[in-house]
Amino acid sequence: MEINPVKGTHDIIGGEANLYSMIEHTAMQVASCYGYKEIRTPIIEHTPLFLRSVGESSDIVNKEMYTFEDKGGRSITLRPELTAGIMRSIVTNKLYANTDLPLKFFYLGPCFRYERPQAGRYRQFNQFGVESVGNPSFFQDAEVIALGYRVLETIGLGEVRVLINSLGDEESRTAYKEALRKYFSKHIDKMCSDCKRRLEVNPLRILDCKVPEDIEIVKGAPKMTDYLSPASKAYLESVIGILKSIGIETEIDSTLVRGLDYYTGVVFEYHLPKIEGVDNIGALGAGGHYANLLAEVGGPSYEGIGLAFGIERLAYVIKTVHEFDTNFGIDVYLMGMNDSIIEKNFALADMLRGSGFSVESNYEVKSMGSLFKTANRKKAKFAIIVGEDEVAKKEVAVKNLKTQEQTLVKLEDLENVLHSLLNAYYASEYESPKEE
Ligand code: ATP
Ligand code: MG
Repeated sequence: MEINPVKGTHDIIGGEANLYSMIEHTAMQVASCYGYKEIRTPIIEHTPLFLRSVGESSDIVNKEMYTFEDKGGRSITLRPELTAGIMRSIVTNKLYANTDLPLKFFYLGPCFRYERPQAGRYRQFNQFGVESVGNPSFFQDAEVIALGYRVLETIGLGEVRVLINSLGDEESRTAYKEALRKYFSKHIDKMCSDCKRRLEVNPLRILDCKVPEDIEIVKGAPKMTDYLSPASKAYLESVIGILKSIGIETEIDSTLVRGLDYYTGVVFEYHLPKIEGVDNIGALGAGGHYANLLAEVGGPSYEGIGLAFGIERLAYVIKTVHEFDTNFGIDVYLMGMNDSIIEKNFALADMLRGSGFSVESNYEVKSMGSLFKTANRKKAKFAIIVGEDEVAKKEVAVKNLKTQEQTLVKLEDLENVLHSLLNAYYASEYESPKEE
């Protein structure tokens, strides 16, 4: 009997996995440049961690958590996001005792949310994110937003829009929630059942509703920006100003509230502008400031700011917008037409791989024509043909499979010659990328 994958999960295979790795490595590299260090926390945590941090009014806690009882009767949850676990880890390991604040971490790994699967929305997906904890300053907020933008720029998505808002301080938020409650009470009969619940527990959550009719009603709601205290307003403007000074434009979106309860102050999202043929998959990444989260899970009252990208969404965009070719080739296909040469090629391939070339060779005797077909199928840049003559002269024929040019190369020079041939190959691709 065939066993299907679990709904909302997906296999990431071959070139697609290469694309994921490329995105992940780039993100990690950029975060390292900003002084962030890696942290790896468990996929399972005690359920109360998420109830207390992500919050009981969030969709995540209400509808999306994978929670189960383990054999010891404990309530365990597959992490729906990583920030809560990192705060837990800071407390468990007393990292807050470090005098050198802020603590700056980046992370990468799978998250689990029981959502309705659709474009850009899975039940198991991967996040890359960063957290900076313990040094509240608008510079720190700006640093995290800039880091996220630089990640996108480096993977080729510099055209994104950076949306920003502030949820203000406690006082501004209370006043704003009151205004929202008043406004939505008049419309709630026509709104979805989730919004009815949200009105009771946290009317801010209504602004995040994705039901089209509700979005129309949200458009007429009071704006957070009208309720910000002068200090919160000045803070937001400082973040916007400092980002502008390094060439990063932001747009204030006064309905941006984010779906997690722990955010306070500045919140932001990265969105693609509308592009033909690309589904609207929501935010590529998002984050915000949290003033009380560490204290909420038992640590000192250090403030923090973080962001997270969905790797699936980034990969989707790169594939559709940039038509990224996930079918990577190899550098060299080594061709041998008889058993003794095939055996010699086994050693030659091993040597070339040791020098960093990607190399494959044939293990069965085949005709030259059939081997060339294989080389092309494997998208080899070069074929190396070794015949009896060549063995005698200790040389091989190197053929550029794009130009069909062939060169005889002494075995002892092969490594150096291959390096320069490959450099020339890449240079020619760079000069005329459209010619093929
Ligand atoms: P959305 O509003 O799209 O539901 P969210 O507010 O729930 O997103 P966050 O919790 O802030 O998202 O997660 C950060 C990022 O993780 C999102 O911007 C998105 O790129 C990605 N992400 C969130 N949920 C999913 C999912 N179910 N599948 C794939 N990626 C996701
Ligand atoms: Mg969501």
